[in-house]
Amino acid sequence: MTGKPRVIYWFRTDLRLHDSPALKAALDLKPECLYPIWCWDPHYVYRARVGPNRWQYLCVEIPLEINKKKADFFPPGRLDCQSDLSKSITKLNSKSKLFVVREAPQTVLPKLFKAWNISHIVFEKDTDAYARERDEKIIESAKEAGVKVIVKTGRTLYDPDELVKANGGKPTMSITQVEHAAKKIGEVPRPIPAPESLPDPGDTTLDIPQDRPSQEPDINKIQRSGSETSYNKLAGPDSSFSVPTYSELGLKPATTSHRGGETLALAALDRIIANESYTATFSKPSTAPTAFSPPATTVLSPHHHFGSLSVRLLYWRATDTMEAYRKKGKQPSTIPTNLVGQLLFRDMYFGAQAALGYAFAQTVGNSHCRFVPWHLPSTISPSTGLTTGSYTISSTLHETWFQRWKHGRTGFPWIDALMRQLRLEGWIHHLGRHAVACFLTRGGCYIDWERGAAVFEEWLLDHEVACNSGNWQWLACVAFYAQFYRCYSPVAFPKKWDPAGAFVRNYVPELAAFPEKYIYEPWRAPVLDQKKAKCLVKGEGRDREGGYEGALWEEAGGMKVYPKPMFDFNERRGICIEGLKNAYHVGLYGDDDRVKNGSWREL
Ligand code: FAD
Repeated sequence: MTGKPRVIYWFRTDLRLHDSPALKAALDLKPECLYPIWCWDPHYVYRARVGPNRWQYLCVEIPLEINKKKADFFPPGRLDCQSDLSKSITKLNSKSKLFVVREAPQTVLPKLFKAWNISHIVFEKDTDAYARERDEKIIESAKEAGVKVIVKTGRTLYDPDELVKANGGKPTMSITQVEHAAKKIGEVPRPIPAPESLPDPGDTTLDIPQDRPSQEPDINKIQRSGSETSYNKLAGPDSSFSVPTYSELGLKPATTSHRGGETLALAALDRIIANESYTATFSKPSTAPTAFSPPATTVLSPHHHFGSLSVRLLYWRATDTMEAYRKKGKQPSTIPTNLVGQLLFRDMYFGAQAALGYAFAQTVGNSHCRFVPWHLPSTISPSTGLTTGSYTISSTLHETWFQRWKHGRTGFPWIDALMRQLRLEGWIHHLGRHAVACFLTRGGCYIDWERGAAVFEEWLLDHEVACNSGNWQWLACVAFYAQFYRCYSPVAFPKKWDPAGAFVRNYVPELAAFPEKYIYEPWRAPVLDQKKAKCLVKGEGRDREGGYEGALWEEAGGMKVYPKPMFDFNERRGICIEGLKNAYHVGLYGDDDRVKNGSWREL
């Protein structure tokens, strides 16, 4: 013991070494030892919905055999966030790595404080509602153990709490509010370089007493056997705190071609910035949602989510590139459509969530989310509160529409291609997200945005509670945006970008040979053309078991089947607009007598 600090650096959504104010603060302590750890948090394992693609992006080291078998998908040497970070740490200190601890931080950190004789814990600030609660608990136990806590902002351009404060204590609900608040806070700090060396980690031996009732499995005592039964022990199956593998997690194989990790993130950023005119003139509305190889936007969002790329680094490299472009006498793009504007949108949602907490991700209790009675027939007269026509929707029909939307079987090729891309790749273009979110909610199905957000939560690589909930509210016209009469057509909109339908042909292969004329409306194709294209338009998109998850039904002779559209879009659009008009008329949740006294439910 030297009397110098013994520090735990707790990695969470900051899986990087570059531009990390929190890591810098830990190193500035000049510690005797630094334990870089990541805690396996049951909240994300059991409570949050996480599909195999996101797991892989986070942490899985692909076993060699899988690497070889799927060489096309997983070029050897590419590693995801935790593996990559761990290797980078080891490069700076051969005794160190990312120590992955398999237990909830709330229970394991107090044990580690004691076992490793820790003096400080340092981590990046997280204003997610759950993360706040968790961190408050950790701060409390650190205090009890006499451990000092250092917390630094680095996940967003501005500290979301400061943004809210500068916005008069209110959630940030527009880019203008963000810009005004940002001016009060000051310039975004320039990024910090990655450290050139790291201290030793110190002894990692653990002798943690069994403190659970005897009938419960002993998950605290490390077994050195590496046997199958020890997989959920604190230090992992090989007792070495290693990054989990597929077999340890029992995961279904991932399908995405997008890969994670700081090394890849920095290389991707270099490639983007090297294309000066792309970076300087980037303007979101003119990027094609139908471009997929390569996509038209940066696809940096999953890196921002896991913190493998600092948002401040993107901000400053884009800003400097735009400035250099301007100095050459050329005109760069501007906020809000340029890359800086995109990052401000991200901060806007973090600011809204920081102010509203858990309620931001739902309608109930969310003071800024308009109540829409999604469960009701959507043709209710604003004046009488009675349905204007005989049109009613059973909950079974709504459920069928939801399942068909989720599994890419609506019969609208544009929507189906996007939903299949989402499931396969874990990423879709922003305007593609607009299209499917509008279609599910106020521009087609009239289904609650929270159900759509839950599907995105499971399948997106970049899933971020603040951005996902906020954008869904925007698209459903329940917050941020109110022009509900502007709906995305599943036919006219994609036709503008991709008249030949290359995107649809790629993700809905049963339509690959369909004539261009009918690619967005296959139900209009004469049967002769359908037969020539080896795909009949019929049925409801069910699999052989009658569900929607298995492979689509095929006819004999290799004839494929693609479903008929699940409704008349133009008719549904009219009905949805009527429903939204009514919801806007009656005001916010809580102000509405018909909701309070339940009379709407009788309709
Ligand atoms: P680019 O256009 O290259 O933008 C650069 C960066 O800016 C992105 O990497 C991202 O970090 C940020 N950004 C851009 N647009 C937005 C935006 N509208 N909101 C917040 N940040 C933005 N984004 C998420 O990061 N996580 C989500 O869970 C998420 N869910 C969404 C759900 C819906 C219904 C919609 C319509 C949008 C959602 N978005 C979400 C926002 C946006 O679609 C993605 O951030 C963007 O498409 C990511 O692609 P990109 O990295 O190529 O973005």
